[in-house]
Formats: sequence, C-alpha cells, structure tokens
Amino acid sequence: MLEAAIEEARKGLAEGGIPIGAAIFDRHGRLVSSGHNRRVQEDDPSIHGETDAFRRAGRQRSYRDLIMVTTLAPCWYCSGLVRQFGFGTVVVGESVNFGGGVEWLREAGVEVIDLASSECIAMMAEYIEREPVVWNEDIGEPA
Ligand SMILES: [Zn+2]
Repeated sequence: MLEAAIEEARKGLAEGGIPIGAAIFDRHGRLVSSGHNRRVQEDDPSIHGETDAFRRAGRQRSYRDLIMVTTLAPCWYCSGLVRQFGFGTVVVGESVNFGGGVEWLREAGVEVIDLASSECIAMMAEYIEREPVVWNEDIGEPA
C-alpha cells in the first residue's frame, strides 16, 4: 500500500512539487484513489497528498473501513479530514521529519500504523534540506 503513496510522492517531486503522496484503499486492499501534494504546481495550499486522494475517491457512503495511506504523518488539516469523515485506519510512511497529528488521531481511536520507511524519511529530509521555505509554508510555519 505504501508503494502507491510513494509513487505519487515521486510524481509530485518530478513536477517540481513537495514529495508527499497518499492513497486510499478499501478493507480488501483494493486501491480506491491516490493523489499527491500539488501546492506548488497548482498554487493551491489546500491540495495536500491526503486531500488530493480524498477528492479523487469521490463520494463514499462510509469511510470507517477505508485506509488512508500517506508517505508523511498527516498535518492538522489532514488529520482533521481523517476524523471528520471517520477513517478507521491511517498508514503513515514516516513521522520522523514531521509528527503531525499522529498522537491526536490515536487518542481519538484511529488506528495509526507508522511504517518508519527509510525511503520516505530520506525523500522528505532531502526536500526539507533543499526547500526549507516551501516546506515551512506547507505546514503553516513562519519562514
Ligand atoms: Zn496535510
């Protein structure tokens, strides 16, 4: 599952954007949708990996059995999306470069599986090192 999100992150990077990808799977492991952060590409701060995948999934009757997979721990905005729509499970590629709302989600009863992927950690660390201003803007931190 993480591979689908990583593939999206790589697409974003190739487009000159922030390498964060996400994918949504059903409980049988079938891919529902995927997407990536397009803040830079579209000049739209609301397009995070998770929100992109969420929109591409279209309307769903229930999110309880869906799995949100993301290369990086979800920010507050995306953690809010997970809680608002009631995703039961979130799979996180890594939470080393950014902890996001992982603990807040766990406290709310969301199952969060952190894979601590060395590939995800390296991809994000390299990007933050190279583009600190764009990264800080993405997470709402002053430059
Ligand atoms: Zn986000």
